[in-house]
Amino acid sequence: MRAIVITIGDELLNGTTVDTNSAFLGRELGNIGIQLFEKLAISDKKEHIIDSLERYVGKADLILFTGGLGPTKDDITKQTLCEYFGGTLVRDASVLAGIEKAFARRGLTMTDRNRDQALVPDVCTVVPNAYGTAPGMLFEQDGSLVFSMPGVPFEMRSMFTEQVMPILQQRLELPVIVNRHLMTSGIGESWLADRIADLEEALPPHITLAYLPSPGVVKLRLTGRGKDHRKLQEEVDAQVHLFAKRLGKHVYGYDEETLMAS
Ligand code: AMP
Ligand code: MG
Repeated sequence: MRAIVITIGDELLNGTTVDTNSAFLGRELGNIGIQLFEKLAISDKKEHIIDSLERYVGKADLILFTGGLGPTKDDITKQTLCEYFGGTLVRDASVLAGIEKAFARRGLTMTDRNRDQALVPDVCTVVPNAYGTAPGMLFEQDGSLVFSMPGVPFEMRSMFTEQVMPILQQRLELPVIVNRHLMTSGIGESWLADRIADLEEALPPHITLAYLPSPGVVKLRLTGRGKDHRKLQEEVDAQVHLFAKRLGKHVYGYDEETLMAS
C-alpha cells in the first residue's frame, strides 16, 4: 500500500500556517493500517499541483490532497484536478442545496462566488462536506484513489472521519492493527534499547516496535499487523509480556496509564 498526503497552500510554505492536516491524516491512517510513504507540501500554483499528479497518479494507491478549495481566486485545486482528469465543471444540485441551507441558517445572502462552490468536476464522486461549503472529491485513475479535501482543519477532519474512512475501509484491503504500549520511566532511551535489543531483533516481521520518548518517560509501542484480530492480540500481548518481564521495575504501566494513576 503506497499512500501520500499532499497539502496545498502558499501559507504552509511561508510559515504563516502550520500544517496540522498531514499530522492528523498520518495518525488516523496509521490507526487503520495505512502508513504514509511521503508527505508533500506544495504552493497554490497550477503547475505544482499538476506536477504532483503526474508524479503520483498511477504510482500511489492513495493520494490525499487538502487545501485550495475555498471560494477565492487563489484556491485553484478543483479547477486543476478537473482539468487533469479530463472533466468539466457541472453544478451539483445536492451540494448547492447544502450551501443554500448553510447560508439561510446564518441569514446570509449568497453571491455567485458562493454558488460556484457547487460546481464539481463531472469525472469525480462528490464527497459531502457537512461543515462547510466546499465539497470534497474522489477521482480514480490508473489504480489510484485521489481524494481532495478542504484545508480548513475541522472540515477536513470531519470529512475524513465521516466520509473518507468508510470508503477506504470498503475499497482497500486493510490489515487488522493491534497497538499496545509499555510505559517506562527512570531509564534512558539508549539504555533501554540495549536492554531489549535481542527481544527487538527477535520480533516477527508483522510486529514492530517504536520508542516514543518524552521527558522522564519512554513509551514503547508494539504494533501488530495481520488478518485475525484474536490471534494478533495474543501475539502482541505475548510480546508485551516478554518486554515487561525484561524491564521489570522500569515499567510503571501499560497503554495510556499515567504515573499518577499507577
Ligand atoms: P484553503 O482550503 O486552502 O482555502 O484553506 C482554508 C484554511 O485552512 C486556511 O486558513 C488555511 O490556512 C487552513 N489550512 C489549509 N491547509 C492547512 C493545513 N495543511 N494545516 C492546517 N491548516 C490548513
Ligand atoms: Mg488556500
